[in-house]
Amino acid sequence: MSHPLFADDMKLTPYWWDDAPRPDLPHRPVPDKADVAIVGSGYTGLTAAIVLARAGRSVVVFDAEDAAWGCSARNGGQIGSGVKPGVDELTSRYGRATAHAMMNEGYASLDYVKRFITDEGIDCDLRTCGRFIGAHRPSRYEQLAADFEKVKNIVPLQWHMVPKSEMAKEIGTDAYHGGAVLPHHASLQPAKYANGLVELALKAGVEIHVRTPVIGLDRGSGGTVVVSSRGRTLAHDVIVATNGYTKGITPALQRRVIPIGSYMMATEPIPEDVMRRLYPHEHVTSDTRKVVYYYRPSPDHRRIVFGGRVALKETDPKVSGPRLHAVMTGLFPELAQTKISHTWMGLVAYTFDHLPHIGKRDGLWYAMGYCGSGVAWASYMGHKIGHKVLGDSEGGTSFDAIDFPTRPLYSGDPWFLSFAVAYYQAMDRWGP
Ligand SMILES: Cc1cc2nc3c(=O)[nH]c(=O)nc-3n(C[C@H](O)[C@H](O)[C@H](O)COP(=O)(O)OP(=O)(O)OC[C@H]3O[C@@H](n4cnc5c(N)ncnc54)[C@H](O)[C@@H]3O)c2cc1C
Repeated sequence: MSHPLFADDMKLTPYWWDDAPRPDLPHRPVPDKADVAIVGSGYTGLTAAIVLARAGRSVVVFDAEDAAWGCSARNGGQIGSGVKPGVDELTSRYGRATAHAMMNEGYASLDYVKRFITDEGIDCDLRTCGRFIGAHRPSRYEQLAADFEKVKNIVPLQWHMVPKSEMAKEIGTDAYHGGAVLPHHASLQPAKYANGLVELALKAGVEIHVRTPVIGLDRGSGGTVVVSSRGRTLAHDVIVATNGYTKGITPALQRRVIPIGSYMMATEPIPEDVMRRLYPHEHVTSDTRKVVYYYRPSPDHRRIVFGGRVALKETDPKVSGPRLHAVMTGLFPELAQTKISHTWMGLVAYTFDHLPHIGKRDGLWYAMGYCGSGVAWASYMGHKIGHKVLGDSEGGTSFDAIDFPTRPLYSGDPWFLSFAVAYYQAMDRWGP
């Protein structure tokens, strides 16, 4: 399928992989035994693996595809600090203390990932660039300000509101009705970060078996036999770190996460003066929609990397690319002729309560359900689940207090997704 907006050499792989391809890890025999087996080699699995291997455990990680092939090497590289539900909603569900602790862990996750990358010297273009949140309707500007006021004494929030009249200082569009800047939010090159984690894990002694899907988990008294396409491994502990790619080998977890496609595209290089006008800073950007658009300049400040949900049902990146481009052009009309150099997608994991989850179920450890905000959350929860397996207090989190909900008749196929997306899009357009 060709399209006038596609560059001649357009790729269907993430833009990030040009500079940071999936590592070429050779196949070695799968071990008979390990202290800990981890299913999934994204940020969750690798961060947990590093904690465990550094504590002296023998750790084996399996991935059905290449290392960090899932969301972890495909995302927008935007690092935020929050949980999705607001403070009132959280307080009414879990009480004040737990609600406040959860919100503070959102901030802790941002600090955690920045500190970890800096301390470990991972070269992944980490920048505390700040975030601009655009108010897509006038009422949302007031709402944003009110939301921040409400939490300013609960979390260490820094922010300032930017009225429409001053918006050009932040971003070169007049499509928003003002917005807010959160200066401590950050960005990174996601595939470089993932590859940095792979390197640290290998250095710590972790075995990573790529293109080796786990096809069964047989629980027994001596541990769990991890049945993979290339052999059987008896593991004392198993961590499931499959997030949006969670399937039938863990049916109880599959029933608790909702896989949702998130779509991205990158532009061809944009002239320097245009980029300076559109992006006077390096902010990452998102908006006040429920079906959010998120975008940013590439780390070399030459392209725009633009993401969002542009289909009711899952679609082909060749279809999503031009649709994302149309949304981008709505914001930045002068990019109407700029071609698409890359278009891709990945599956994020939503949950029924819009919160991440961590714990142990049916004898298997898990951490997942980051609801599209997993750069900080997956790293933080991966660290936590590693410590939980070690049995030390560092593994404790306020998320231990909450159940991981599902819904009757839901088994992992989100048949309701199109309706939900249509509903939220309608709310974005016409709702309060
Ligand atoms: C397009 C897109 C944009 C995003 N943008 C952002 C953003 O800007 N900011 C942000 O914070 N978050 C963002 N996210 C979300 C974030 O990337 C994820 O939440 C995070 O990477 C999840 O990490 P993970 O390790 O839990 O899962 P993943 O990185 O998805 O890894 C799961 C792995 O499990 C493997 N697997 C599954 N089943 C098996 C099996 N049976 N055997 C072996 N292996 C298996 C898969 O192959 C996969 O590699 C985005 C996601 C997408 C898709």
